[in-house]
Parts: sequence; C-alpha cells; structure tokens
Amino acid sequence: MSKIFSFAFHRVSDEYSPAYPPMPIKTFDKVIKHLRRNFLIIPQEELCEKTHFQSRKSLCVITFDDAYNDFAECALPVLEKNKVQVALHIISDVADTGKIFWTQRLNKVIEGYYAEKKVLKLPDSQSGDILQFSMNSDADVERTALNVYLNLLENPDRDAIISDLERELGREVMQTRMLRWNEIAQLDSNLVSIGSHTKTHRNLMTLSDEEIKTELAESYNCIYRNLGKYPFSIAYPNGQYNDKINEMALATGYKVLYTCDAKPVTESNSCIYHRYNLYNREFWKNRLKITMFRLRG
Ligand SMILES: [Zn+2]
Repeated sequence: MSKIFSFAFHRVSDEYSPAYPPMPIKTFDKVIKHLRRNFLIIPQEELCEKTHFQSRKSLCVITFDDAYNDFAECALPVLEKNKVQVALHIISDVADTGKIFWTQRLNKVIEGYYAEKKVLKLPDSQSGDILQFSMNSDADVERTALNVYLNLLENPDRDAIISDLERELGREVMQTRMLRWNEIAQLDSNLVSIGSHTKTHRNLMTLSDEEIKTELAESYNCIYRNLGKYPFSIAYPNGQYNDKINEMALATGYKVLYTCDAKPVTESNSCIYHRYNLYNREFWKNRLKITMFRLRG
C-alpha cells in the first residue's frame, strides 16, 4: 500500500517580509517540479476514492492555508504551468471583510519597529513584566516575531495589545492583502479546491463546544453561500485539534481533516492527513526536508 504525504504552503511571494518570510516564486516553482518528479500528486477529492492506493509512487496532496492574495498572484501561475491541483483553506471572516488575522497583523507591526529602529516593548502575558525586543538583523525580526506570537497566543487581549503596539509605533502598518469572496470565486475550480480554515482562525483547543461548532459550521455554510459548493476539507488553525474536534468536523460534513503533525498516512480508511509544512526560502532546504520526510515516513 502506498503512503500518502500531504504538504502545506502559506505565502508564496518575492515580497521582503523578514517577520514571516514568504517562499520566493522561483523556489516554489522548483519545489513543485521536485514534488511532481517524486510523487504522484492527486487532487484531495481522490483521497476518498482510494483508487491510487496501489500506486508504486508515493502519493501527495498539496494544500495552502490562510488564502493570502499572493496565492492568486504568485502561486497559481506556477500551479497552472505545472498542471498541479491543490486545496486552498480560507478563513471565512477574512474572505468577508478582507481584514487580516492577528498573527500577520502582528508580523507587520514588528517589521514596522525594525524599519524605524525602535525597541518593541510589551507586557509578558504570564508575569506582566515588560519585555523588550531590539532588532538589528532580519534574523532578529524573525525570532522576535516567533517569541511575541507565542507570548500572545493564548492572551485574550492580544488584539488590543497589537493596537497599542501600532499606536506606539506612530504610524499605521501596511496590511497583507487577503483574498475576498469575489476573487476566490474566480479561481479555476478544476485546479483549486476550496477548503475551510475555520471562521476566525482561533485555536480550537481553547474553545467551548458551542464555539468550536460555530468555527466549523459557520465557515462550512459560508463557503457554500458564497461559492455554491460545500468545502471538502478543513485545515485546523495552527494544526491544533483533538479527537472531539475531529468528530465534530466530520459531523459538520468535512470529508478530509488536515493537521500539521508531519506524518504520512498509510491506512486507506483515514480521513485525517498530517501535513508537512514547506516554507524555506532556499530550494535546497525544502528538498532536504522532503527527502527526510520520505525517509522517516
Ligand atoms: Zn493559518
């Protein structure tokens, strides 16, 4: 029985963004070609048909999360050129409003502090002590972004804290463009299968049953209302899930559930796929990762 690997991409762009560096377009093109050579890439709908499970090649499914505008602008032309089908997981509130979710807003604020050479200060979510971050290189920015993200992850006041940081910076930061419904509707449905990335991208593990239901079902129905088709899959925000969330997702109607646990799937009756994240700027690093995944898997 062949193994199924699933991969997750986020941003593909040549934009300079040290807090959360996108994969450059050239690198992405090479990664896609490499995956094509080494795997049988299948559309996610075929995961349930099981027709390829006897293939000699390992199978793979390619997914994207968050639905940045650069998916349409930078990734899609490469996918079209290489005739590769993917799943794109969208956050329904973001598609409604175009408003970026908190992590990417935070990244842009951190980049603002770096550009202005200002020290970023924020209260520690645990102790309340003031943490200070000064950034002198792109690597410092990436590290700071990760530290501040982890610090704010479970903080209910994080939106207000990010607004305070922006006010303190003294100027509004540029927001990353996200895809809206009209743009998502124009994506070629033979190439792009729209999945859900929940309603608001909250950590499902921290929510009440009622709130989890809202995140799962409202995004499911919202995608149907806007695109005329129910989503086939869901990708959990930050890969966080448990058995109860899986059961609730299946009861909502999702057929395929994606985590970020970086494991291949071999059972033919599985509906849970544990994706490997690919995000490095250099092609060789991604190639090395893919090789390691295959060997370990
Ligand atoms: Zn996400």
